[in-house]
Amino acid sequence: MYNPQSLRADEFIDHSEVLDTLSYATEHARDAELIDSIIAKAAQKKGLTHREASVLLACELPEKVEQVYRLANQIKHDFYGNRIVMFAPLYLSNHCINSCVYCPYHSQNKNIARKKLSQEEVAREVIALQDMGHKRLALEAGEHPTMNPIEYILECIKTIYSIKHKNGAIRRVNVNIAATTVEEYVMLKDAGIGTYILFQETYHKQSYEKLHPAGPKHDYAWHTEAMDRAMQGGIDDVGLGVLFGLEGYRYEFAALLMHAEHLEAVHGVGPHTISVPRIRRADDINPDVFDNGISDDTFARICACIRVSVPYTGMIVSTRESKAVREKVLPLGISQISGGSRTSVGGYYEPEPEEDNSAQFDVSDRRTLDEVVRWLMEQGHVPSFCTACYREGRTGDRFMSLCKSQQILNCCHPNALLTLKEYLQDYASPQTRQMGLAMIEQELKKIPSDKVRNKAVEYLAAIESGQRDFRF
Ligand code: SF4
Ligand code: SF4
Repeated sequence: MYNPQSLRADEFIDHSEVLDTLSYATEHARDAELIDSIIAKAAQKKGLTHREASVLLACELPEKVEQVYRLANQIKHDFYGNRIVMFAPLYLSNHCINSCVYCPYHSQNKNIARKKLSQEEVAREVIALQDMGHKRLALEAGEHPTMNPIEYILECIKTIYSIKHKNGAIRRVNVNIAATTVEEYVMLKDAGIGTYILFQETYHKQSYEKLHPAGPKHDYAWHTEAMDRAMQGGIDDVGLGVLFGLEGYRYEFAALLMHAEHLEAVHGVGPHTISVPRIRRADDINPDVFDNGISDDTFARICACIRVSVPYTGMIVSTRESKAVREKVLPLGISQISGGSRTSVGGYYEPEPEEDNSAQFDVSDRRTLDEVVRWLMEQGHVPSFCTACYREGRTGDRFMSLCKSQQILNCCHPNALLTLKEYLQDYASPQTRQMGLAMIEQELKKIPSDKVRNKAVEYLAAIESGQRDFRF
C-alpha cells in the first residue's frame, strides 16, 4: 500500500503505485490540456508530484516537450543562476564484498587490480587534486567490513581536511559509501561530511535483487531505507541517484521522485542532490548486456523533467558523459559537474597504465579541469568552486528554505566569482585566466545589491593580494 510517510521501502516505493503511474502517464501522453496544466504548475517553481512529472516524461507532443526544456533552463537560472559547481571523485578502495553485476569491483572479478589507499597515498591524491584546483570531493569506496571499515573512511576524511598544499584546501568532502547503520552515519556527520550520497541503482525490487545476487547490498530494504537512517543520524543533506540502463527509465524516474517525496514527507527536507549516471563500459562489464539503455535524447528529457519536478535540488552529471552530452544537458538544469576525474584508485597522483585497469567505469569526458572550466565559460556558465553553505551551517531545511525562496542565488553568484578568482590566480592556464577575469568583471555588474557587490569587489582584491577563502 503506497504511503510516502512510511519508513518501509516497499510502502514509500510501492510497486503498484509506480505501475499505476506509468499507465496513467501513457494514457495522458497526448492530453494537451492536462500537459498544459502540469507545465503551468511547474512554472510556479514549487515542484510536481511523481504522477505529474511522469506525464511530462511520457509526453508525445513535441512543442510541449520544448516548453519543458525552456522551463527547465529558466528554473535552473532562477534558483541557482548561471553557476555550475565543480567537484571530483576520489576513489579510496575498490575492495568490495558485493556482487553488483554492472560494476567491475564486484567480488568475483579476479582481473581487476585491487587497491586501497594508505593515508600517505590519500595525501598524495589530495595534493594532486588541490594542484588541479579542486575544493570539493566525492569519496568513493567499495563495501568491505575489514578492508574499508568506517574507521578507515573517517581516517581518510581527517587526512583530506588536514592537507593544505600551497593555497589549496579541500573544503567539502561528500561521501558515497555503502548503506550503513545510524551509528555510523552519526560518525560521518561528526567527521564533517557534506552530502551523503547513495545511488539506488534501481528501484525495481525484483531487478534489484537479481542485479545484486549476494552480499549485504542484496537487501533491497536495507539499501532503500538508508537515507532515512542517514537523516536519523543527523546527516541532513543526502544525494539520490539511479543508474540508468538497468531497468526501464520511466519506472526509475517515477520511483526516484517518490523517494524525494518520501524524504520531504518524513524529514521535511527533500534530497540535496540527484545524480543521473548511465551505465558505462568497464573491466568485465559490457553495457550492451543491459537492455534498458537510454538514448541521449531520452537522457536529456529525464534531466529536464527532474529539474522542473524538484526545482530546489542540485542535479549532477559526471564525466561518465561525453562533452557533447554534457553540452546538451547543461542548459536543462544541471547545477554540478565533475571535471578532470580519474575513476581508478590512486589515479590522480599516478594515472594507471592501460593494462592495469582498476577504474570503476570508462570516463567519456577526458578533458583537464582547466579545459572544462574554459568550456563552461565559453557557454556562459560561471564555474564555481564554492563550498560555502555547509561551512556556514546552511544545510538541511535551512538550506532548503533559502533555496525555495530563491535567496540562495544571492550567495551562489558572488561565491562563484570569488572561488573562480581563486582558481584563476592559482591554477588556470593564461588563456583561461584571461577569459575568467573578463567574465568576473561582467558578472559583478549583475549583483543586484550594492552592498554585496562592493563586498565582492573588496574580497576579489584581497584574493588578488594573496588572501583566500572568502564567502557569503
Ligand atoms: Fe561494490 Fe559499489 Fe561496485 Fe557494488 S557498485 S560492486 S557495492 S563498489
Ligand atoms: Fe552551493 Fe551554497 Fe555555494 Fe550556492 S552558495 S554554490 S548552494 S555551497
